[in-house]
Amino acid sequence: MNRKKSEKAYKEAVKWIPGGVNSPVRALRSVGASPLFIKKAKGVRLTDIDGNNFTDFCLSWGVFILGHNHPVVNKAVRQAISNGTSYGIPSLQETKLAELVCKNVTGIERVRFVNSGTEAVMSAVRLARGYTKRNIIIKFDGCYHGHVDHLLVAAGSGVAKLGNSSSAGVPDSFVAHTISLPFNDQEAIRKIFQEKGNDIAAVIVEPVPANMGVVLPKNNFLRLLRELTTEYGSLLIFDEVISAFRIGLGGVQQLFDITPDLTTVGKIVGGGFPAAAFGGRADIMSLLAPDGPVYQAGTLSGNPVAMSAGIATLNLLSEDGFYRKLNDRTDAFIKALKTAVSGKGVTINAIGSMFTVFFSEQTINSFEDVKATDQERFGAFFRYMLRNNFYISPSQFEANFISEAHSDEELARFVEVAGKFY
Ligand SMILES: *Cc1c(COP(=O)(O)O)cnc(C)c1O
Repeated sequence: MNRKKSEKAYKEAVKWIPGGVNSPVRALRSVGASPLFIKKAKGVRLTDIDGNNFTDFCLSWGVFILGHNHPVVNKAVRQAISNGTSYGIPSLQETKLAELVCKNVTGIERVRFVNSGTEAVMSAVRLARGYTKRNIIIKFDGCYHGHVDHLLVAAGSGVAKLGNSSSAGVPDSFVAHTISLPFNDQEAIRKIFQEKGNDIAAVIVEPVPANMGVVLPKNNFLRLLRELTTEYGSLLIFDEVISAFRIGLGGVQQLFDITPDLTTVGKIVGGGFPAAAFGGRADIMSLLAPDGPVYQAGTLSGNPVAMSAGIATLNLLSEDGFYRKLNDRTDAFIKALKTAVSGKGVTINAIGSMFTVFFSEQTINSFEDVKATDQERFGAFFRYMLRNNFYISPSQFEANFISEAHSDEELARFVEVAGKFY
């Protein structure tokens, strides 16, 4: 495969951009590869600047559940742009998308839009502390909540690959109120509530973690979180930045029938533009400025182009049977994939239309389990799939995604190619 132009572009990029990338995992270092530079994308097809085509299973980290460059979403975007791209003054699109989010996500009665998942989480945590007048935040090892200072403790995604799990540049005092516990560990969470329950502002969790690869909650773990937070007057925050509109229209909270107090959404909700949101119970959300004392703002928040892309996307996702079809196709694909790779020392975790192939024979229920996988072998698998024109998410600590645009032929070819890896 000729990748000369991408290699040259990378040399140029590192002159001006640290590591040549605007988000660290894109550098592909942990999988022993150098970055691709993409020229265009359509459906599930990525085309790099050398003219190579790849079938995309990363989909901009789960954003493109309809595939890239969807004609209906594009049309809405073009129409929005023809009226200007930002006003800094309310527009009707904001209310429309807010209504769609509130009507679909049970835990969200009021919602505010921001520009990234990081911002959504940061604001939700501030609000939780403002509401409870408490400081402590409980999170779980391997869950990633964006690059918020005080949540970079035992975090997943790109942070998982750093030797020290929290980032340099974060003073100890900033993380003094953050406690990270093992995911799926009922005893640990019970114990911490017994010891500090009355000082805990919130428990934040990816209800189905996808940033340590896909890991599933076990034995009513989420229900226990709901019970404990309710008992102690703490808030439960579901970080559904990946899972909202991915697992289903109502996210993980609908699937497991557990309503959190606050929810963050992102990725899919912006339809490919920088938009995310946090929302929750109306009485809590009323503490936000200008109604209340918790400050939160944004120059480009509720941007009309991003809102239009989000509205067009959610409307398409609301069509009858969308998730049933997508999830059924994924189930069949995962079943075939499991058969094809059996005996190769891998474990596949999957839910809805997302999955991770772990290079380990153990069941994977926690960050510790993921850290024990064979990452050298995963790197070799990534490079092998790339040579065969598949772009999978470039880390063991990430999820892969299926979109409506993946054809049965493409899924079958993935199974065939993956099955020949050893
Ligand atoms: C992606 C992600 C974030 C961060 O969102 P950004 O838009 O990258 O800032 C936060 N939480 C979860 C669960 C995510 O998947």
